[in-house]
Amino acid sequence: MTAALVLQTSFLGDVVLTTPLLTHLAARGAVDVVATPAGAAILDGHPAVRRVIAYDKRRADAGPRALARLAGTLRDARYDAAYHAQGSSRTAALSWLARIPVRRGFDASAGRWLYTERVRYRKAEHHARRLLDLAAPADAPLPRPTLHPAGADHDAAAALLASAPFGDAAFVALAPGSVWGTKRWPDYPALVAALPPELGIVVVGGAEDAPQAAAIAATASERVLDATGRLRILATAALLARATALVTNDSLPQHLASAMDVPTITVFGPTVPQFGFGPLATTARVVEHPGPLACRPCSSHGPATCPLGHWRCMREIPPATVAAALASVTRDVAPR
Ligand code: SF4
Repeated sequence: MTAALVLQTSFLGDVVLTTPLLTHLAARGAVDVVATPAGAAILDGHPAVRRVIAYDKRRADAGPRALARLAGTLRDARYDAAYHAQGSSRTAALSWLARIPVRRGFDASAGRWLYTERVRYRKAEHHARRLLDLAAPADAPLPRPTLHPAGADHDAAAALLASAPFGDAAFVALAPGSVWGTKRWPDYPALVAALPPELGIVVVGGAEDAPQAAAIAATASERVLDATGRLRILATAALLARATALVTNDSLPQHLASAMDVPTITVFGPTVPQFGFGPLATTARVVEHPGPLACRPCSSHGPATCPLGHWRCMREIPPATVAAALASVTRDVAPR
């Protein structure tokens, strides 16, 4: 039986998008993953993964000594091949120091000079597809990403929903946050005002998204449950699985919904789905500035503030357009 190591220490959404690659590799043998502590938590209980090795590259494991220590641990495991889903020179050095004989990564990655095999980075493809390219033929079908919340995650989601002011009515999840300020569509409160009053609303995200949740709750507290900062990521995925649909920015919850196959509306502002990070749920819609808007896209992640000062890419997306996209994916937005 072969043993493969996947190195994925990028953003949490990228970890979700790596799961098709993990599942593909698991059909051949054991798969271990090096991930950040937060990324490791996302992969808890994933059946394709034998072991997740947490690598806290910015804090506890920062510096060359920790890198060498981890490389020694990986060397002892005698992996047959390493797959670089994250392309830094640091992770390339890790698999090289671990003496893994086959080290495969993208030809566009910073660490490519240490790989033994380089795979073409297909810029026009979805990132999940690009990652799958590391092990599968270019024409292999792309399965949806997958996550496996534990029973305790489903219980936590159910317990939180039991406290919702809307009882057991159908609900839409909203994810108004993003690390990058310009990716936060500002009109979630107006969207809620445009939705049928019978529909429940659950705001998901981290504790840092509480201000956006509070602004939404201020518009309709009698039907809004603020779940920000109250569930771990896999429990949030479990909660999303119960939602009628998710409206989100270009951020992690979109990828959680893809994995749980929840109808998804993604609002793109300074970034575009052509970067390869759009929704992969069976039913999904993208809402963008009606255009033309020559400055868009303006960066790969979206800047903290609009460099032109007007932030038209987000401010000019009408709530009615998002509401219409939502209505197109679920009948629950019609009054019951
Ligand atoms: S420069 Fe354009 S795309 Fe970038 S944040 Fe401003 S309005 Fe949006």
